[in-house]
Amino acid sequence: MYRRTKYDLKQELNLIKEANLYKDERIILSDQKARIEVSYPAGSTPKEVLNFCSNNYLGLASHPKIKKAAIDTIEKYGFGLASVRFICGTQDLHKELEEKIANFYQTDDAILYSSCFDANGGLFECIIGQDDVIITDGLNHASIIDGIRLCKARRLIYEHSDMKSLEQKLVLAREGFDIWDHTGLAQGPHPAKNIIIATDGVFSMDGDIAKVKEIVELGQRFDAMVMVDDSHATGFFGKTGRGAIEYNGVLGEVDIITSTLGKAMGGASGGFTAARKEIVEMLRQRSRPYLFSNTLAPAIVGASIAAFDLLEGSNDLREKLMENTKYFRENMKSLGFDIIDSVHPIVPVLFRKFDDDAQRAQSMAKALYDEGIYAIGFSFPVVPKGQARIRVQISAAHSKEDIDTCLEAFKKVGKKLKVI
Ligand SMILES: *Cc1c(COP(=O)(O)O)cnc(C)c1O
Repeated sequence: MYRRTKYDLKQELNLIKEANLYKDERIILSDQKARIEVSYPAGSTPKEVLNFCSNNYLGLASHPKIKKAAIDTIEKYGFGLASVRFICGTQDLHKELEEKIANFYQTDDAILYSSCFDANGGLFECIIGQDDVIITDGLNHASIIDGIRLCKARRLIYEHSDMKSLEQKLVLAREGFDIWDHTGLAQGPHPAKNIIIATDGVFSMDGDIAKVKEIVELGQRFDAMVMVDDSHATGFFGKTGRGAIEYNGVLGEVDIITSTLGKAMGGASGGFTAARKEIVEMLRQRSRPYLFSNTLAPAIVGASIAAFDLLEGSNDLREKLMENTKYFRENMKSLGFDIIDSVHPIVPVLFRKFDDDAQRAQSMAKALYDEGIYAIGFSFPVVPKGQARIRVQISAAHSKEDIDTCLEAFKKVGKKLKVI
């Protein structure tokens, strides 16, 4: 009988709507690129808008070379494999991509997953357990949080990017702290046997870069492993696209790197863990999303190989992206907008001077959309109170004219809504 649950769900859904947090889908009628055709609200007459909210940082989502690689791979390797990796789901292609990724990040080995969410979900429980401690940044991605939940290790959270706070947690983990058993009795103190520090490489709401170098140094001092999820950086950030790890000058020094193929690297789907030899070896034995979920489709693997090759061969797209980002950031500042300083193509536009910041972010996003600029507004509880924002994401797919059009719309709407 569904009746009772239906009632409960409807109540809860109404609460979501009342809190202005109800998410609806905008229907896109074209491929993913700078100019897309959108029907919003769903079913209304389609309209062409400039897309400033995708993770298509390098414009590879519909790049001719990537599409061709996917099509060619389907012709040769078929559409699907109908198997997990260890039964009959590993083609030479999968091994080739894993080797490419391991070389790219200068790690011993790499293992593919259907998504980075799965890579993070299937990571921690395979390598540490109840005698161990995970120390995690307060703003880490949901998939890291879920992966930690699935693991028996104890968890300590450090203040976002605060190295003093991280150090305190490392001291605590090494000295040991009380844990409570199910009867509420203190059992302790238990010093950690193994420690993992886990962080996003780039944080998606602020576009700020993790202090990976300092984290690696702390890891060395306290004999703790370091795990970095480089999803918002792989392929485009850092001098040669090796992400926040390269940007911080610690390539080859991070024990575990997870990332996605679903953002800059073509944007279809897929994820990976690149790590020390024994860690990857253990993941192939024990990692549940790897053992019990289907292999990555050949077309995605073939296109991802092409994406890595394309990026090794040339810096053009990365340079275009960084040029676009710099141009947009500088102009937004001179227009008087309140943006968070960084060098990343995630550009959050805030409303910190205003009491009604959430309201303003929302009206502004709507007015921008009417001007043909598609960017999303975020407010509490997705971001802290007083930090409502429009998150703009710049791409190498944008032309200078596209960025100018966006700036012009921000200026017009910003003046109209008295934000600048
Ligand atoms: C996007 C993202 C993920 C999820 O990647 P998928 O491959 O889409 O599952 C995981 N971690 C971080 C930090 C991300 O930004």
